Amino acid sequence: APRVRFAPSPTGYLHVGGARTALFNWLFARHTGGTLILRIEDTDFERSSEEMVGGILDGMTWLGLDWDEGPFYQSKRLDLYKAAAERLIASGSAYPCFCTKEELEQRRAEAAAAGRPPMYDRRCRRLTAEEVAAKRASGGLAAIRFAVPEGGSTSFDDAVFGRIEFANSEIEDFVLLRSDGIPTYHLSVVADDMEMRLTHIIRGADHISNTPKQVLQYLALGAELPVFAHVPLILGPDKTRLSKRHGATSVLSYKEMGIVPEAFRNFLALLGWSPQAASKDREIFASEELIQLFSLEGISKSNAVFDNDKLAWFNTEYIRAYSAERLLPLIEEEWAKAGFEPLCTTEEILAIIDLLKPRARSLKDFAGAFKAYFSDEFEFDTAAVTKFFKDEAVPALLVELGFRYEGAEEFSEASAEQILRQFAEEKGIKAGALINGSRVALTGQGVAPSLFAVMVTLGKQRVVRRLKAAGE
Ligand code: GLU
Repeated sequence: APRVRFAPSPTGYLHVGGARTALFNWLFARHTGGTLILRIEDTDFERSSEEMVGGILDGMTWLGLDWDEGPFYQSKRLDLYKAAAERLIASGSAYPCFCTKEELEQRRAEAAAAGRPPMYDRRCRRLTAEEVAAKRASGGLAAIRFAVPEGGSTSFDDAVFGRIEFANSEIEDFVLLRSDGIPTYHLSVVADDMEMRLTHIIRGADHISNTPKQVLQYLALGAELPVFAHVPLILGPDKTRLSKRHGATSVLSYKEMGIVPEAFRNFLALLGWSPQAASKDREIFASEELIQLFSLEGISKSNAVFDNDKLAWFNTEYIRAYSAERLLPLIEEEWAKAGFEPLCTTEEILAIIDLLKPRARSLKDFAGAFKAYFSDEFEFDTAAVTKFFKDEAVPALLVELGFRYEGAEEFSEASAEQILRQFAEEKGIKAGALINGSRVALTGQGVAPSLFAVMVTLGKQRVVRRLKAAGE
């Protein structure tokens, strides 16, 4: 069965592109009955942090992406990388390099001045065994470099982009292990991918240019290549690479915004992938369907565009489709964040959620614009107040209407409507003006579900109290 990995560097939070890579690996593993390994690529000690690791794991958990093995930390596997470098030396494909940073910099500057490519000039590749021994004996510290073949080319068949070929003349003798014993990305990634027996490498297309350096190591050791599948980049609406300029890029900030996690997952899945077996127009896919439909063949070569309006659309669709019971824990999180406590029974809460969910744009609405439904502690939308209380007669009429309801025996949608309409007729005012005014008095908002459904949901007592308060 396939073995795949998600290998984030904890030098930042889990961003949209990383989450999409994690999702594709997860979908592939779940579709094929394979194994997903989580590997933390934290060999950049200066820039990696435990806090970032926590953020990445939280982001994955929020998206419902579980892994089967790990997390493994590269910082705890340094011996493995040294051994891997030794193996490459033993196979004749790597060599120690004693050039110092200063020497390298100077030569790079000279090359640039002469218009030559700033590649390592391979001078240590030509050292004899005696020269190497002598340099080592005199305390010289060596990095280990890969000896790239001097002619020919290196190629691989990418599952998404097809055959990709690089001329070896354009590949530098790259460093595998630095003189301080820390591996470069090129070495640790291959050593781990081999040791973890990974069969498919699914990652961002920004890694295509690194791939020949990895393929060369497999070839040098006579190892079988994994399948590489590079997924297209994610762009902002202006077609430049998605970045902070386009808004939030951290996955957890979407949680903060009140996005339903499955909505975000559905949205992410369609960034650069489309199910081949489903109709082109379909966009809503439950998790199980995504797993069932996922294939590398469905990954597109063209870059995907991150469209915030589309995400908002997914979010409203998910909120609408979910049952009140399913939404409740997500809404409770919003209440907790806002320090808000609903003043109703669970049964009432569920009925209110059902009433409101067709109008929700975000889970946040339940702790914001919808507060009046759950508690007496809410704010009035000043624009709505100005607009619907403009007619000075309205507040006093609402108070009077409140008394009418108080005296009414029945309090149903039908009777509430009848009372209001009859009252409007008596007073010679348009029913619409009272409906709009009541809506603001009852909910604090200018828009709401059908007023009479709102009244019944709030209950007679609250309706009476809030209408009477309109006179204050
Ligand atoms: N750690 C790398 C990154 O975060 C990914 C390495 C890989 O997928 O090969 O970009």
